[in-house]
Amino acid sequence: MKTSLYLVYGGKSAEHEVSLQTAKAVISAVDKAKYDITPIYITSKGEWVRGPQIDGPVDDVKKLQFSNEQATLSALSIFQDTDQADQPTVVFPLLHGPNGEDGTVQGMLELLNVPYVGNGVLASAAGMDKIVMKNLFAQAGLEQVNYVATTKHEWKENQTAIIEEMENHLGYPCFVKPANLGSSVGISKASNREGLIAAMNEALKFDRRIIVEQGVVAREIEVGVLGNEKPACSVVGEIVPTKDFYDYKAKYVDGDTAMIIPAQLSEEIVKEVKEKAIVAYKALDCAGLVRADFFLTEDGQIVINEVNTMPGFTPFSMFPLLWKHAGVEYPDLIEKLVSLALSRYEEKQ
Ligand code: ATP
Ligand code: MG
Ligand code: MG
Ligand code: MG
Repeated sequence: MKTSLYLVYGGKSAEHEVSLQTAKAVISAVDKAKYDITPIYITSKGEWVRGPQIDGPVDDVKKLQFSNEQATLSALSIFQDTDQADQPTVVFPLLHGPNGEDGTVQGMLELLNVPYVGNGVLASAAGMDKIVMKNLFAQAGLEQVNYVATTKHEWKENQTAIIEEMENHLGYPCFVKPANLGSSVGISKASNREGLIAAMNEALKFDRRIIVEQGVVAREIEVGVLGNEKPACSVVGEIVPTKDFYDYKAKYVDGDTAMIIPAQLSEEIVKEVKEKAIVAYKALDCAGLVRADFFLTEDGQIVINEVNTMPGFTPFSMFPLLWKHAGVEYPDLIEKLVSLALSRYEEKQ
């Protein structure tokens, strides 16, 4: 029997465009003999529209003849007939960033009692908020760079004291980040006080919660994790940005950042990276998948930077490439995630 696969993409997030690339790639790769695919597009304004079933590759995922009868402004009604057919149904949220990767959509799917791919509410919310994530990682004993968290309100009230705390605790350069985002959107590197203030103003455009981290000179090491109760790691890869840091442009515009898979690392380091990725996975109670990002410092320390609960997912993104090198091809990776979604759902019933 075919599985009914609902692909949810777009989304009210600064990572909307990235999600569209993912959706296009997944639609092309999914085995149409095994899955009936229904596209669900969330516009940048947050409207949900459902398209017709798809049986071939598509050029523009925004223009899938979403008709008026199919269109709806209610996220809740869009899955209403999902359990009408007796075929298995799975929702795959191909969403990055707030309002999708952060537990909101996952919470809705829990309430609707539909199986869905990837992380649940807690892991998604904790993984999206870099402040909460880092606090949980600290508690799990993972090494991290020093950081200071603040909010828009605190910054407004106590700017001078916060700057002093940041300078004393972190120094320069430091990285200023919106707590809840991804794809490097809103992140800047600050080299002095003036830069720090400008970076704070930039990050505050995207979130009211901000994290400022000590800048490290380090290699960037990433590993994919797949599974529910028994997560497994992919091979380990390395990102080598050609510019100052791995910003949005380097990720999606320039395309000249090198991905080295597998990374040239000693067996010991590889083992340690994988062990730490699993500790991080468990610290957040992850399910399905994550990509865990580390820094390998010049003195050989493995420092966790973050996990991404819905990492970039085109066939040319790091996560699928890491699994490809581990022997799991892109369509099989999708299938594996769908089966993890179904088994997680069944276990909860
Ligand atoms: P994504 O979700 O797309 O992986 P993100 O928006 O969550 O990214 P980070 O991974 O935290 O952002 O940071 C983006 C990039 O900025 C890193 O890949 C790295 O190049 C650089 N960077 C971030 N924090 C630091 C730091 N503390 N020291 C040095 N470089 C950093
Ligand atoms: Mg991230
Ligand atoms: Mg991300
Ligand atoms: Mg990252």
